[in-house]
Amino acid sequence: MKKNLPDLEIPEDLLNKLIEHARQEYPLESCGILAGKEGKITKLYSMENTQKSSSCYLMAPEEQLRVFQEIEEEGLELSAIYHSHPHSPPFPSQRDVDSAFYPDSLILIISLMEKKVPQFGAFQIEKGKVEKKAIKVIGKDEKVS
Ligand SMILES: [Zn+2]
Repeated sequence: MKKNLPDLEIPEDLLNKLIEHARQEYPLESCGILAGKEGKITKLYSMENTQKSSSCYLMAPEEQLRVFQEIEEEGLELSAIYHSHPHSPPFPSQRDVDSAFYPDSLILIISLMEKKVPQFGAFQIEKGKVEKKAIKVIGKDEKVS
């Protein structure tokens, strides 16, 4: 790995939005972008899966570009790209590994295999190498500032 990316820290309310988005799109895959600083997520963009598929996702390039620009304008970083796995565990598929085009951001996967208890996995993927990262959920009452 070129650079060791920080673990992911996500506020509970944003995580709930992500779960809600995945459930709305079910049984299709949902996808989106998480922005923040040094792994600490402050913003979630739910995106459209133009593939309308339950086994893969693709964001509309122009929408993706617009979000990337907004993230840059706000002085944030592209922390992670998320998508859901409606029927499989929260681990990257071969396709996910092959299409990890942003090695400076993590891949976050939400699995709805157990519908009531979504499972998460965060990964740094670079040149076919996969490294699991920790996910810390920040509750409202623990939030500093
Ligand atoms: Zn996947």
